[in-house]
Amino acid sequence: MTLTATVPVQKTTHSRIAETDFNNLEFGKYISDHMLMADWANGKWSEPVIVPFGDLKMSPAMLSLHYGQSIFEGMKAYKKSDGTVNIFRPHKHLDRMNKSLDRMCMPAISFDMFIQSLQALIEVDSEWIPTSEGASLYIRPIVFASESRLGVKVSDHYKFIILTSPVGPYYSKPFRLKVEDHFTRTAEGGTGFAKCAGNYGGAFYPTHVAKQEGFDQILWTDSKEHKYIDEVGMMNVMFVINGKIVTPNLNSAILDGITRDSLLTIARETGIPVEERRISIDELEAAFKNKTLTEAFGAGTAAVVAPIAVIRIHGIDYQFPVAGPSSIQQKLKAKLMDIRMGITPDTHNWNYIVKI
Ligand SMILES: *Cc1c(COP(=O)(O)O)cnc(C)c1O
Repeated sequence: MTLTATVPVQKTTHSRIAETDFNNLEFGKYISDHMLMADWANGKWSEPVIVPFGDLKMSPAMLSLHYGQSIFEGMKAYKKSDGTVNIFRPHKHLDRMNKSLDRMCMPAISFDMFIQSLQALIEVDSEWIPTSEGASLYIRPIVFASESRLGVKVSDHYKFIILTSPVGPYYSKPFRLKVEDHFTRTAEGGTGFAKCAGNYGGAFYPTHVAKQEGFDQILWTDSKEHKYIDEVGMMNVMFVINGKIVTPNLNSAILDGITRDSLLTIARETGIPVEERRISIDELEAAFKNKTLTEAFGAGTAAVVAPIAVIRIHGIDYQFPVAGPSSIQQKLKAKLMDIRMGITPDTHNWNYIVKI
């Protein structure tokens, strides 16, 4: 059954696919031909529609611009060799999106609406799903307040939009990170667990400062004492200490990453011990010094696994060796990719298969 029938489609008259360089897919550079849109008004969502990707008409008094009710998700779909398309863990992504929406006093989206929207959009733009190894269709759902009004209030109107973007495998040189001991991304009791727009805008300045000092990203610490590791800000962080995977336990300041959960699940199944707990900077430094800390990596949808090369702690740059194919991080990444591509069995029902 194709579900596109349930979502009206207005097709573009000028596809941009021929102008897209599929051999050089810089992350987020190309947006597929169509987008999905729905509106919240009078206490309910309208039926979603698919239209050509293009500009929106909006009021300068739109509440999201002034008071920041705006959230997003980031997920991926893969084209498998049998021609089917796999949307990775849509239930968990929607679950998180609804937590973000709830935290920002915004209306939830049902799984039926979400999955029908995703299927219909992916079907319309299926040509945009890259097939080269490690490539995928990045999916970006957003919801933002669209009521036009100047008073500080919870909006009565919202827009739900889904964009997609073909992305290649994420090759970047291993990250240089600085442990942040001054700025704060978010605090416990704040919005760190939500993918809400303001968290990222607020992190730009500290990240800019870190970049000027020669780093790529920040390793965020708790806001109270700057003593315990939180995460990287677009990625969760994992360490290998004494052969165990050690990662900060979730709290309201840390985003519950789907890659984090997937990698930890695979590690446990593979017999690699996992510890989710507080990790102090002092512990990290001591583990560096006594050589029990052997790997550090970021975990997130964009990169899946992003090796860390350097962490600066208390003014000293601690270096990691290059993570080769036998490293724990590369083995976990390979296992996760095999599940996504249907090479090994999907025992957790993470893959949502769309027939196109
Ligand atoms: C999106 C995000 C992550 C990674 O989450 P995934 O679901 O694995 O992509 C980690 N931290 C923050 C702050 C994020 O926004």
